[in-house]
Amino acid sequence: NKFEQLGLNEELLMAIEDMGFETPSEVQEKAIPVLLADNTDMVALAQTGTGKTAAFGFPLIQKINANDKTTQGLILSPTRELCLQIANELKNYSKYVKGLRVAAIYGGASITEQARDVKKGAQIIAATPGRMQDMINRGMVNISQIEYCILDEADEMLNMGFYEDITSILSHTPEEKNTWLFSATMPKEVSTIARKFMHKPEEITV
Ligand code: AMP
Repeated sequence: NKFEQLGLNEELLMAIEDMGFETPSEVQEKAIPVLLADNTDMVALAQTGTGKTAAFGFPLIQKINANDKTTQGLILSPTRELCLQIANELKNYSKYVKGLRVAAIYGGASITEQARDVKKGAQIIAATPGRMQDMINRGMVNISQIEYCILDEADEMLNMGFYEDITSILSHTPEEKNTWLFSATMPKEVSTIARKFMHKPEEITV
């Protein structure tokens, strides 16, 4: 099994089998071994539909400590639709990982309900930048123990004017963490974010 050769664990391999994924996509093949290694930052140039959610989702789920309810992983994405899609995919990938919870945080829905979801002990939060910033300001979420931060569709987030929110959110996370950035294009605003928040990122292109 090619997913096993990439270093994925039994819980993930069972979920992958249930989903009927037979072989890793190109971005998965390139990113998963890099992200499973300790302390890596990565910049991936990858379009939607290439399987990038699993490319960061599988290693993230494998690295999270599900016995600890602290929020350890944060995924920022530009839209409510994408945020929900990421959260649902991660729930599916992690269905055999006991105790792992994923919360979705996005605008246009009840903030108190989302805060309740986080409070139950979500190790992973998938969020849009505006609502995330709002919840930080209201003290509804603690991201001071984040170990993995994923910026998905970074170019889109910057196009939508989320630069300030992203930098502010990242300032609430520890300096020592792994940052994984995915973008379909690499305009200079994206390179600026990469330079500012990442340490010698591995670069992959698909
Ligand atoms: P994404 O680019 O993450 O939005 O993924 C696009 C679609 O491809 C999603 O519906 C995934 O469930 C599916 N997918 C991701 N990886 C694989 C794979 N290795 N084999 C088959 N389908 C996949």
